[in-house]
Amino acid sequence: QGVVRFEDVHFAYDSKRPILKGLDFEIAPGGTLAVVGPSGAGKSTLARLLFRFYDVTGGRILIDGQDIAKVTQNSLRGAIGIVPQDTVLFNDTIGYNIGYGRDGATQAQIESAARGASIHHFIESLPEGYDAKVGERGLKLSGGEKQRVAIARTLLKDPPILILDEATSALDSHTEADIQRTLKAVERGRTTIVIAHRLSTIVDADEILVLEAGHITERGTHRQLLAAG
Ligand code: ADP
Ligand code: ADP
Repeated sequence: QGVVRFEDVHFAYDSKRPILKGLDFEIAPGGTLAVVGPSGAGKSTLARLLFRFYDVTGGRILIDGQDIAKVTQNSLRGAIGIVPQDTVLFNDTIGYNIGYGRDGATQAQIESAARGASIHHFIESLPEGYDAKVGERGLKLSGGEKQRVAIARTLLKDPPILILDEATSALDSHTEADIQRTLKAVERGRTTIVIAHRLSTIVDADEILVLEAGHITERGTHRQLLAAG
């Protein structure tokens, strides 16, 4: 479960300027695909298409053999979790921020859901005190702590497909490495797409796509890409 396949995917926000120009790739269930490339190449757009923020303008995207254009929005969004780079937290408790949509989860609810989703290791790395307020008049969280809260919020849905869209890129490299370490365990068994700008964070990806101006210009493992220069 969780096979993602792009077949000759084209996309344009407006008809005059194509953004993605024929992407073909497949990710095996539980596999990790990394997408790297310069700013503006279309990396985030690719993620938005998979989540159906927008529909493809050519080709198709399949999940487990099903064209996502024919899947209900609800089931699609249940299957996919996205962690963006910049997270805006609500001026509310950590519990609310993690469990919003669950009316602000209690510690016991979060811990139980975390066990269900096999992410208890990740939950342990969160800042202390789910009923502490964050924001202006409350707890000041560091960038890394905010991102951990955002990641927990996404992971508690237990999505079989996980998209990390430069989820740790804005953090200092020490914090990034720290979060990456805790993420390794939760990625296991999930099909993961990592959008990254630092190559060091994607050494373990099964395949890396280099995206430039909407084309895949190189692909391979980290070793293969290094060998190719
Ligand atoms: P990347 O993630 O690789 O930096 P993006 O997918 O964000 O690239 O953007 C690819 C191109 O699409 C850029 O030229 C960007 O300006 C354009 N773009 C992104 N979002 C929109 C949008 N909502 N409307 C129009 N153009 C957009
Ligand atoms: P802006 O400068 O546009 O307000 P911020 O990212 O600073 O953007 O804040 C957006 C929201 O994120 C705030 O309303 C607040 O709820 C939350 N927030 C910002 N900084 C922190 C922080 N250090 N800890 C917890 N929440 C924060």
